[in-house]
Amino acid sequence: MLLTFKQAKQNILETATNAKPLTNQTVSLFDALDRIAAIPIISPINVPGFDNSAMDGYAVRLSDIQQTKTLPLASAIFAGDDISNLQWPEATCLRIMTGAPVPIDADAIVMQEHTEQSDLGIRFLKEIKAGDNIRRCGEDVKKNSITVDTGSKLTLPTLSTLATLGISEVTVFNKLKVAIFSTGNELTPIGTPLSGNGAIYDSNRFTLKLLLTKLNCEIIDLGIIPDDPTQIKQALVTASNQANLVITSGGVSVGDADYTKTALEDLGQINFWKIAMKPGKPFAFGQIGHALFCGLPGNPVSTLVTFYQLVQPLILTLSGLKTTDIDFRFQVKAATDLKKSIGRVDFQRGRLQIDDQGELEVFTTGQQGSHITQSFNQANCFIILEQERGNVNKGELVMIELFNTLLK
Ligand code: AMP
Ligand code: MG
Repeated sequence: MLLTFKQAKQNILETATNAKPLTNQTVSLFDALDRIAAIPIISPINVPGFDNSAMDGYAVRLSDIQQTKTLPLASAIFAGDDISNLQWPEATCLRIMTGAPVPIDADAIVMQEHTEQSDLGIRFLKEIKAGDNIRRCGEDVKKNSITVDTGSKLTLPTLSTLATLGISEVTVFNKLKVAIFSTGNELTPIGTPLSGNGAIYDSNRFTLKLLLTKLNCEIIDLGIIPDDPTQIKQALVTASNQANLVITSGGVSVGDADYTKTALEDLGQINFWKIAMKPGKPFAFGQIGHALFCGLPGNPVSTLVTFYQLVQPLILTLSGLKTTDIDFRFQVKAATDLKKSIGRVDFQRGRLQIDDQGELEVFTTGQQGSHITQSFNQANCFIILEQERGNVNKGELVMIELFNTLLK
């Protein structure tokens, strides 16, 4: 029986949500990019910390302006000035610069461009409303407010906000420890000559290391393990003793040398799924000791698609992220015919473009076999074709999902 893609993803996410949270550490703000907050971050100050001017211009009292449109200049306030002893006579205005503190009795700041200098002082040319060009204390961030919640990703804009609060260190979840190995007698490490006819390069382990690095994981690389049940079992034990998550590639289908399956049956609670998705039908998921386990199919495109669609949300959730971004999916016109057989959901690779009329359209990247790694190279999105759908004709609407930063 085939499991639907949705059921598989739901099962994985439920397991991840119930997993024990990671321990945490304190890191400098600079090292916190893309890490996940382990405790709420409370603002120690208001930002802005005081009412200040949004413009280079003039501070006025509305009561003065109602009497006359021209006010003599009293003095000037610059950014960084202490104005606690400022004297501001009635019926005068003050020169004020952007970011300078606004005196408590100023009603508005008038931008320089809306004034004219005359012998009598500054002439105000336009209507002035209370509050014009005054940035209010706490308008951006309120003191004692929760600025970042537990489980939020510390993105560049978020860290930038924290810097405005003067915060230099944050408490984040420790990195998820992920152990990986590849299985297969045919595999040769990159950078060494291929030995014999049937040999191929172990590209998957390289790809997995890049993906895990982008997801901020700590990687335990156990290398290539031959198709030998004893060695695979040993590697799985070593991996699960050191890591929160074990990811392997290859050996989870039904071939004669797919020993990962046999080894796992003895070691833990593993489900060998046949998921109604293409590529990526065989996929193993479960637990070995304290570690979770994902067994990815060996074909490089299947490895990448199952990692993106199933392992990525698992890792993000295990890493402590509260709300994983919703999949950014929408419908566009197919610019080419698409081959599709009924029965599985396809994650084809596509290129979203804008046509002459300014409308979005998606092209296939060509051959879609699970061994055609180049199908990803020009792609910027998945074309997701529903399980019950057959061939697609040019011009039909199809669902696409833009690649996130993992593939960019
Ligand atoms: P398997 O899932 O072990 O049956 O492998 C399916 C296909 O993927 C076979 O053609 C393998 O040679 C290939 N393959 C398995 N592991 C890797 C790997 N680490 N890197 C590149 N290709 C692989
Ligand atoms: Mg194999």
